[in-house]
Amino acid sequence: MDSFQQRTTRSYHLEAATEDSKVWDVVVIGGGATGAGILLDAVTRGYSALLLEGSDFAKGTSSRSTKLIHGGVRYLQQFQFGMVRDSLRERGRLLKNAPHLVHELEFIIPCKSMFERIFYGAGLKLYDALAWGSGARLSRQVTRVGIYDRFPQLTPDRFAGGVSYIDAQFNDSRLVIELIRTAVESNAIVLNHAKVLSLDRNANQRLQGLEFVDQETGISYKIRAKAVVNATGPFCDAIRRMDNSVIEPLVAASQGVHVVLPATMFESNRAIIVPKTSDGRVLFIIPWQGHVLVGTTDTPIRNIDEEPKAQREEVDFLLETLAGYLEAAPSRSDVLSVFTGIRPLVKARQDQPTKQLSRDHTIEVSPSGLVTITGGKWTTYRKMAEDCVDLLSSHFGLPKATCKTKSMLLQQTELDRVTCEQALEASQLSQPLHPKLSFTEANLLQGIRFEYACNLEDLLARRTRALFLNTTAALQIAPIAVKLLAQERRKDEAWESEQLRQFADLTQSYLL
Ligand SMILES: Cc1cc2nc3c(=O)[nH]c(=O)nc-3n(C[C@H](O)[C@H](O)[C@H](O)COP(=O)(O)OP(=O)(O)OC[C@H]3O[C@@H](n4cnc5c(N)ncnc54)[C@H](O)[C@@H]3O)c2cc1C
Repeated sequence: MDSFQQRTTRSYHLEAATEDSKVWDVVVIGGGATGAGILLDAVTRGYSALLLEGSDFAKGTSSRSTKLIHGGVRYLQQFQFGMVRDSLRERGRLLKNAPHLVHELEFIIPCKSMFERIFYGAGLKLYDALAWGSGARLSRQVTRVGIYDRFPQLTPDRFAGGVSYIDAQFNDSRLVIELIRTAVESNAIVLNHAKVLSLDRNANQRLQGLEFVDQETGISYKIRAKAVVNATGPFCDAIRRMDNSVIEPLVAASQGVHVVLPATMFESNRAIIVPKTSDGRVLFIIPWQGHVLVGTTDTPIRNIDEEPKAQREEVDFLLETLAGYLEAAPSRSDVLSVFTGIRPLVKARQDQPTKQLSRDHTIEVSPSGLVTITGGKWTTYRKMAEDCVDLLSSHFGLPKATCKTKSMLLQQTELDRVTCEQALEASQLSQPLHPKLSFTEANLLQGIRFEYACNLEDLLARRTRALFLNTTAALQIAPIAVKLLAQERRKDEAWESEQLRQFADLTQSYLL
């Protein structure tokens, strides 16, 4: 068995991924929640498994979510009861399996009338019933005084009380990293910055492997696999077209924007859900990592971009909706960061609005054997993975093995993390790098040494969340971060300058 230290280096994984004559049981394309979940499920059933991520782990939608592990109250309105029940079951599992990353959070629906209190109260009783057995406390009514006690900054005299219920919150990109690291502990091989270029078929037109490029060096490699899983979320149609150039798209893409505000604008450790905005969407106002997260929008889009951009109207819509709730309405100048994610919703009727499309997942097996999995939610990644690997074992002649992830603790790796952190703290690296961010040099070193961060963006966007929380502060700590990266990765000054330039360019999508 190779040492833990070896398995934290990218070169180890590159060598293992490209080993001559190796035929992988499972190769997963895409390192978001779906791909990382499938990798962990496959490898812990005993299959040899490799994950290839074209950019960085969680670069796609999986770092741009609302950070909720939830049943999804809004899906009750769409009668998606089965999906809500499955999600609530998964919420219970995640609270047990990753207690260091997922925690309960109280949500309140502020109501303007007694009628609204009764209406939403009744809906949440159904939510309680679907969560039966999960151990979460039941929903309850909150009086007018109770609402203003909990949220002193709400618009005075506007609300007649509300309804409170429990859901859960998490750090999305960190959970992907923990899934990846847990899978690596079970001998999975993982490569970020390894983009799949084409699929490879045998004489019978069955998939037998693929070609990918190592974006760090520009070198391409061909590998062989029994099963290839396309878990590229909103990008899945591009991979499907590598398999069949005339295929109908599976995904109806829609983007969701969040803005991040300073904690002083909404001082509470509870969240607000606005169940119906002026255009019928749901909006969350959530305390997150010492800041306030507000989102999201739901705007159908044509182009599926790696770095999607918020439209001016989307940000205005969020701020206008907030103005109806907060006494001191935030303006554009209060926004510390804006980030945008693309929902990989499965296409339906042409005239159906994206907010009504099902969040259930879809698994498709093409005639050549390409397995595409998309749709679903972050909350249901584990169940999606279980369904997908069950299918792999029945379709691709893999030895029968049952899923192990239902009660698999993701805490083991967190113990490693704490141990590493303590070692690093001992070397005086524990001071916050910026007065407005809690991240330390120890966090950066951890990202570089143990979590495959290759560049400034990996480190400041997804290992730490600096870019998402406060873009200007992230820019200000970039020179320290790039020095550390260059030192650890033995890169020269020209590389440092190029990194700083690329990072500054990237921040334009996160600044208003
Ligand atoms: C705004 C918004 C808010 C959301 N909030 C929540 C929430 O609070 N709770 C919840 O449960 N769900 C939420 N969701 C849904 C959830 O975030 C997604 O369902 C989930 O993240 C999708 O994960 P994925 O792995 O399928 O896709 P992604 O995370 O997009 O991963 C796909 C990966 O594939 C990679 N890739 C693409 N092409 C290639 C290639 N050629 N080679 C290799 N790799 C490639 C990409 O770089 C990317 O990293 C939200 C979605 C959005 C858009």
